[in-house]
Amino acid sequence: MLIRVRGARGSFPVSGKRFSRYGGDTTCLEILSENGIRLVIDAGTGLRSLSREIKDPDQGSDLHWLFTHFHWDHVLGFPYYLPFLTSRYDISLHSLEPVQAGMLQHLNALMVPPFFPLSFDLFMDHLTFRRQDLAGFCVDSIRIDPILLSHPNGGLGYRFTEGGRVFVFLTDNELGYEHPGGRTFSDYAAFCAGADLLIHDAEFTTPEYRRTRSWGHSTVEQTLRLALESGVKALGLFHHNRDRSDEDLEALVSGCRKRLQDQNSPIECFAVAQDAEYTI
Ligand SMILES: [Zn+2]
Ligand SMILES: [Zn+2]
Repeated sequence: MLIRVRGARGSFPVSGKRFSRYGGDTTCLEILSENGIRLVIDAGTGLRSLSREIKDPDQGSDLHWLFTHFHWDHVLGFPYYLPFLTSRYDISLHSLEPVQAGMLQHLNALMVPPFFPLSFDLFMDHLTFRRQDLAGFCVDSIRIDPILLSHPNGGLGYRFTEGGRVFVFLTDNELGYEHPGGRTFSDYAAFCAGADLLIHDAEFTTPEYRRTRSWGHSTVEQTLRLALESGVKALGLFHHNRDRSDEDLEALVSGCRKRLQDQNSPIECFAVAQDAEYTI
């Protein structure tokens, strides 16, 4: 499968020279199956680039959509997604119930006057709403297994498996604090076990975390520990803090690589950059 990053910033979009390498758009990932079926995860401002790339509105395509949760930084791009306005796209919206039972109401709430001029009903004409449960399901050749996140207002993380290759995506997940409905550190380690690639929330540094504990995000240190305990092959640090410059991120990655080297770990560690692509 191919994973394309449309946005990796956490909480709030940013712009400017300080953020040019890792990007300023918020969470949106695109996954392409071996057969070219497209999955989109979340609809942060990173969704804008996906919308822009679709040059021929008459050329249809299947698209499947999953959400981790409905905080602003994960949904802000949704009302602006242009393919909703052409009937040639078959868009499936997967709601994992009971956790996401309110999905349609949540998305509808993004598009009510006076905050937005178009109605969600207009989009519904081009959407197929699919109810799934937490036991997991398949889209094309990709198996999708969810896990509850430890995050205020809850959420879901996902494990994607295709042809024996595994990608785990856990953002907005606080490993050092158990929010209602969340799982334990060892549950997350078991969920990530043996993944070829883990992309995990690493919003805070350990000194910052003294002030931000219980805000719903992990530290770089906690995320590194998860990667080590679960034996993943590669770790991508994600949900970059809105104040974290390219230089700051590179310093954090250097620190992680040194730690891994000291422990003779083969894990490859990097900060996830907007527009990056990973084939696993
Ligand atoms: Zn977020
Ligand atoms: Zn969140």
